[in-house]
Amino acid sequence: MRKNIVAGNWKMNKNVIEAQQLMFQLLQYKKNHTPNCEIWIAPPSLYLMMAKDLYENDEIGIFAQDMSEYESGAYTGEISAAMLESLDITGAIIGHSERRQYHGETDSHCNRKIKLALDQGLTPIYCNGETLEQRKSGKHLEVVKNQTEVALFTLSADEIKKVVIAYEPVWAIGTGETASPEQAQEIHAHIRSLIAEKYGQEVADDISILYGGSVKPDNAKEIFSQPDIDGGLIGGAALNVADFGKIIEGFS
Ligand code: PEP
Repeated sequence: MRKNIVAGNWKMNKNVIEAQQLMFQLLQYKKNHTPNCEIWIAPPSLYLMMAKDLYENDEIGIFAQDMSEYESGAYTGEISAAMLESLDITGAIIGHSERRQYHGETDSHCNRKIKLALDQGLTPIYCNGETLEQRKSGKHLEVVKNQTEVALFTLSADEIKKVVIAYEPVWAIGTGETASPEQAQEIHAHIRSLIAEKYGQEVADDISILYGGSVKPDNAKEIFSQPDIDGGLIGGAALNVADFGKIIEGFS
């Protein structure tokens, strides 16, 4: 179901004490405010259980930053969809550009992971987006089309409705450079129209598409006000509750 979401990707940051503090501060924030969006976090996997214990009433969605493309077995270091499900974790980020860049992840891997996540009742946050070179050469629409088709278009209509998409132009992640609201809206509308062509408008209108790439307190409101942007996947600014809270208030 389409909804407004602000999700924080903590990446490989925070020791256990710092992580616990931030989780607690976020819980306090949620109790003292009435956000107009869902709040999700993706802490390092080591801390997922801690989040689960703290957020007893599911006030905040808890996501892994990645999960395995395999069901189970001899895959050292990996975490499976079934393991996440057994901890009652909300879902997993899949295909983040850092996984693609440093771990060779492709859209075919993403496709397998998304299917496994859905089979376990998890919500996948599927990330895609073009590099700077691809944008400069005018290929951004084509690149995102290809990514979306390979990663998602083997799913049924019922399945794709359960996926959250995060458009994250690689050149805007952690760089302080943000896509303009118009640039982001163009791609979000493009992704939605690709889904509408394949699955029908009703399905496309049911899917949340988040923007990620240097979202900060001072640009969140304008980005979130675009018609096809349903929230944000936030990296750096999710690491302190003051900034993250202001971004959440972008939905006022
Ligand atoms: C991200 O890593 O998904 C991200 C959007 O990072 P940042 O907000 O720091 O650009």
